[in-house]
This record gives sequence, structure tokens and C-alpha cells, in this order.
Amino acid sequence: MATGLKGIKSVRDLEVTEKVVFLRLDLNVPIVDGIIGDETRILASLPTIQFLKEKGAKIVMCSHLGRPKSKEDKEYSLEPIAKRLSELLKAEVVLWDDVASDGVKSLLHNMKKNQLVLLENVRFEAGETKDSEELAQVWASYSDIYVNDAFGASHRAHSSIHALPKLLKTNGIGFLIEKEINMLDSLLDNPKRPYLAVLGGAKVSDKIAVIEKLLDIVDGFIIGGAMAYTFLKAKGHAVGKSLVESDKLNYARQMIERIEARNKTLLLPVDHVVSTGISDTKAARTTAEVNISENELGLDIGPKTIKLYSTALHEAATVFWNGPMGVFETPEFSKGTFAIAKALAENSGNKIVGGGDSAAAAEASGFAAQMTHISTGGGASLEYLQGDKLPGLEILRTKVRT
Ligand code: AMP
Repeated sequence: MATGLKGIKSVRDLEVTEKVVFLRLDLNVPIVDGIIGDETRILASLPTIQFLKEKGAKIVMCSHLGRPKSKEDKEYSLEPIAKRLSELLKAEVVLWDDVASDGVKSLLHNMKKNQLVLLENVRFEAGETKDSEELAQVWASYSDIYVNDAFGASHRAHSSIHALPKLLKTNGIGFLIEKEINMLDSLLDNPKRPYLAVLGGAKVSDKIAVIEKLLDIVDGFIIGGAMAYTFLKAKGHAVGKSLVESDKLNYARQMIERIEARNKTLLLPVDHVVSTGISDTKAARTTAEVNISENELGLDIGPKTIKLYSTALHEAATVFWNGPMGVFETPEFSKGTFAIAKALAENSGNKIVGGGDSAAAAEASGFAAQMTHISTGGGASLEYLQGDKLPGLEILRTKVRT
């Protein structure tokens, strides 16, 4: 039961033939010197584009890319993306430079079959991040229907996400958002048990809201990454120079008590890979036990911890994973994170990976294909799970239309 989609139309339910469909995508992919790195988000956008194309819609696509300061920031141009889309769709993708002009109208008038329009980076216009109605009016002036398939941007009240669907009342979501919400709902509505949340990454503070939300839903938490050291210190262990959020020690202490009071599992590291500094790979070594000496810091979970966590994960029927177990970008400190990915790959249950760094870690591990779902939106998936309303979805719900 996908409660999160209630009152929102799917692109399947819209009459799009011959209509101009303004399609908001998340094509925010890493690009270095004009070369696209991970193209997951482009590939994830294809089903909706292809569906609209087959239905005979006139498609105007748009996306943001990075955080450009102005139009002159050419490194944020969507040009490499337009080229890649054109190859993948076997169609002509016309990159329209002036995001805020209605010159697209004449192009749409004479649009050829197998031709699609892609607007340049919407963030080239300052109005985009200000949820400008003026900017949205330009887009609405030539569009009949609005479709949002940019899950990774739906937690932002920006013009192409929020102001525009207020003006275009015939609107809905694409297949990617539909899948993302259904997958995240499977973590909230009657999940199969045992259900474990694996949380890691840099900060406890970023994860508090999701811990709070999941506390009464999951059967246990597995904690790794830098955030584990705040918990270990709260339990009275020596953590050396490891990253600790001192102002969250009390919270961690209370959280440990609340988890125990509910008879739920809380797994914390029992050994570590440590070093004298985050870039001192030569001094990296494995500790024999949980305590860390004064001049070292924890940078990955150790082999005993890997075994402990993997065993627990093999038995789980549902797993939500958000945040790496260590500094996975450095090979010496990547083993713990990759071992978690392997344990999930070996599990046949429902395995959902949050976006951002966790998605990158799952990719780097080589086990990405064995996950049930890897979210394309880091911030958006966490916000949705913790119960926040995503502006990009709320504006499409029938009851909130003005
Ligand atoms: P987040 O965005 O909160 O998921 O954090 C991801 C970042 O946390 C990654 O860049 C990791 O390198 C970093 N990280 C994970 N474990 C540690 C650690 N033990 N010490 C320092 N940084 C870490």
C-alpha cells in the first residue's frame, strides 16, 4: 500500500498525446571535464521519457546540475547530458539555452517527430531556487501538462518543482518517483521482519530524525562510520581522536537506553581500523578490541565487527542502509563498507539503500545490482522516511491544490 502516493496522479493516468509535457527530471550527475561519471540518474529517467515519447507527447525536459553561481558557469551546462540522452533515446535532443525565454514556443510549433527539448540548467536562473512564480509563468505559457520525475530534488520548494505545478493543474509524477516512494513505503508499512537499519556516515546529528522515526518500526540498529564513536564514547569507551559530536553525547546515551528499553538490537563496533590521521594510510592498523588509543582515530569497522554485522544482516528480511561504515573513499578504510554491501548482496530480503554517499559506496563495492533499490535522492529519501512532507509531492496532491 503506497500511502505516500495518495491523491497524486501517475503519468500513466494523463492524456499526453499531442500535448506539451514539461518534464522535471533529476539529471544532476557528476561531470568532470565534460565527461559524465556515474550516469545512474540519466538511466533512471529513461522510462518516463520513453513512455511520453511513445504516447506522442511534445516533451520539454529540464533539470538542475550542481550549484552554478550564474549562466557563465559553463562547467554546469547540461550539454554532455543532452548528448548522452540523445544517444540513449536515439532521438534529437535540442538543448535550449535560454531557460527563461518563451522562444521554445516556436520550436514546439514546428517540432519534428523524434525531437525533444532539454532546457539548460534551471539553476542558471536565480529565480529557480527562490521558487519564482514569474519564472514558472514562462514555462507554463508553453506547457499543457507538468510531470515531476525528479525524486532527488522533490524535497526542495524550487520553481520547477513547486511554483510550476501550481500553475499547471494537469500534473502528475513519473515512474522513478513512483518507484522511489513505493520502495520507501515498504520500509514503513508492514515491513517483513527481522528489520534492521544500518546507519553510518559522518554525523549523528544528520541521522537523529530518521533514528527517531525508525525506533518503533525496526527490530534493531547497526551503527558504523564516524557516528559510531559518539555512541561508543557515550557508553564510556575510549575513542582516541575519532570524530565525536560532544553535544550529542547525551542524546546517544538516551538513545541507547530507549533502544534497550524496547528490547531491540543495537550493534556497535567491537574493533576498528585506526590510524594516526585520516590520510595516514601507512599507519593504518586493526585494533584488538573496542577501545582506541589516544593518538589514533577510528576510520573503518574492524574484522570482528564485519563478522558480527554480516551475521545479523544475513538473518534480516528487511534492511535500510544509509551511510558508509568508514572512510570508504580511501581503499585502506573501505573494507567495512564493502563488506556490508556484500552481506546485503547475499541476503534475499528487501534491501533498500539511501542515496548520496551510500549509493556511491554500493556502486563502488560492485554489489549495486544485487540491492532491491538504491535511491537516487539522498536528502529526499531521508526526509521522506523521517516523515517530512516533500514540497514537490505535496503540491501534486489533489487536496492541496488551490
Ligand atoms: P554521510 O554523508 O553522513 O553519509 O557521511 C559520509 C562521509 O562520512 C563519507 O565521506 C565518509 O568518508 C565519512 N566517514 C565515514 N566514517 C568515517 C570515520 N570513521 N571518520 C571520518 N569520516 C568518516
